[in-house]
Amino acid sequence: MTPAGSVQDLPAPDSDELSALLRRNDLRVVYRVLYESRGEPLTMNQIRQRVIALTGTNNSQTDRRVRDLRDVFDIRTDQRGRDHFYLLKGRRAEPRDRRGGLSAAGRARVFQDYGGRCAWCGRTPKEDGVKIVVDHIVPLDLGGPDREENCQLLCEEDNHAKQARFAEHKDRAEAISKAINHEDVHLRIGELLKALKGTEVPIDLINLVAREENRGDPTRRLRELRILGWTVKVRKEREGKRTLSYYTLEHAEPWPDEGPGPVIRRAENERRRSRKRRAG
Ligand SMILES: [Zn+2]
Repeated sequence: MTPAGSVQDLPAPDSDELSALLRRNDLRVVYRVLYESRGEPLTMNQIRQRVIALTGTNNSQTDRRVRDLRDVFDIRTDQRGRDHFYLLKGRRAEPRDRRGGLSAAGRARVFQDYGGRCAWCGRTPKEDGVKIVVDHIVPLDLGGPDREENCQLLCEEDNHAKQARFAEHKDRAEAISKAINHEDVHLRIGELLKALKGTEVPIDLINLVAREENRGDPTRRLRELRILGWTVKVRKEREGKRTLSYYTLEHAEPWPDEGPGPVIRRAENERRRSRKRRAG
């Protein structure tokens, strides 16, 4: 952990890291000017001239851009005589974010966690020329939180494919957002199935509320619901290269008072013991 307020490395102006940090090109241009003039800081007027030289347009918003950059970067002002010089010192350890939600540093951490690769196809801007976006695993309009834990990197192509796939669930948004707010993964999946009882729920939607992408196993969670006495019917269908599974809830049991976790663990231990007994 870097202590709050301390200086972190500055990303290069052309880096993917900077693109993830600053989505707007006008901010990246001003950043470039500040980055390149660290040895000899410039006045606001000089910064403006450099921006005009780089973009070919007269942008009167340069001082505002510098102010915006200060949410993410530590920019010192040095007064000499009547002039103020702007020096880019480093990155803020805990960036300010006036809009709330995912901060620029949060976006940068997501970028680092995923190594700049699309979580679905593994492609990168450098190797494959794709554009990478920060994607909310549970979409915001389905009640997903605007936080790092709910974010991944996707290439633009996969991001569009994902959006298309979830557009059909928009009318179920209320049931879905209620379900995904439970602490326990079995409750999230189970409550979703209950809310949509009698309809076929695609595995994609179950993955979505499970919120365990890349680390969990939602189909195992469904088996565990069966341990609790639930009946869930499965239908498999080929769709292009993938086989998609659809789940229909036929019977649900009330949740155990102690929560589903301990009951499932006891049942699994018991099964393991009896398997050993048989083997021995
Ligand atoms: Zn991709």
